[in-house]
Amino acid sequence: MEDTFQYKKVFTQTIEANWLSLKNVRLDVLRLDKIHSVISGNKWFKLKYYLQDALAKGFATVTTFGGAYSNHIIATACTCHKSGLKSIGIIRGEEPVELSHTLRTAKEYGMQLHFISRKEYKDKETLSELFKDTYLINEGGYGIQGSMGAKEILLQCKYPEQYTHIICAAGTGTMMAGIIQSVSANQEVIGISAMKGNVELLNKVTALLNKDDATKKFTILHEYHFGGYAKHPAELLAFMNETWQQHQLPTDIVYTSKTFYAVQQMIKDNTIPAGSNVLMVHSGGLQGNLSLPAGTLCF
Ligand SMILES: *Cc1c(COP(=O)(O)O)cnc(C)c1O
Repeated sequence: MEDTFQYKKVFTQTIEANWLSLKNVRLDVLRLDKIHSVISGNKWFKLKYYLQDALAKGFATVTTFGGAYSNHIIATACTCHKSGLKSIGIIRGEEPVELSHTLRTAKEYGMQLHFISRKEYKDKETLSELFKDTYLINEGGYGIQGSMGAKEILLQCKYPEQYTHIICAAGTGTMMAGIIQSVSANQEVIGISAMKGNVELLNKVTALLNKDDATKKFTILHEYHFGGYAKHPAELLAFMNETWQQHQLPTDIVYTSKTFYAVQQMIKDNTIPAGSNVLMVHSGGLQGNLSLPAGTLCF
């Protein structure tokens, strides 16, 4: 277990661009995508305390939920494999003729896949009852233990307290909640929702915070979804290619591309004031890009 979650040193990349120098803004990107080739980005942190808990309570198997391209599914399969735990993935949708790259890899790590209809998938209570002898982790790793792990993300930076703004993507909001817990009252956390109209997100984040942390400065922005979760219009793909060409920064189609776009936009339109010192958390997820036709991206 110790070995599974030993820190790999990740690094921050300082972005150089006219739209930054023009406003005297410093932008660093914390490259969590570099932490592990399979358990990339925030999943490394989010799974840590769940698996420790599962082992401490003597469970042999972990069950969790997700879609066919889920970063959480592949990361759970791999961390469980490394920790000597069995894993079960409840996958939303009919079993496809050909498994996605994500599910094939999860299977290689020994994950048992159960495909269920979208209707049944919604009924998590019945499902949870079926797998009650196993250690259950919510879809996307949402929950207290997940945010406890995410609280350690900023420790990867040399001087986390120097940043005025910390920007991250938000799906379930677990990572964002962990980051909020780790910042001081004069820092602001901005979460970029990858979904369209996910009005529950703020409540989900707040539910993971204690009273003091809930008074810290944080905002969720809902206007950078590019059509919705996992939607990737040509405009977004072009932006990803441009981001790679200009900064050698690889981003994923679901979360980090939208986040980097939002950061750029907010600096240009002064939502983030001139002179700020900004950190964007690159939360990983690059494996999701393999769902695109070959040649779509230039990296
Ligand atoms: C899972 C994931 C997120 C979302 O994290 P939450 O804690 O669910 O908000 C963001 N970025 C990437 C790359 C992810 O894989």
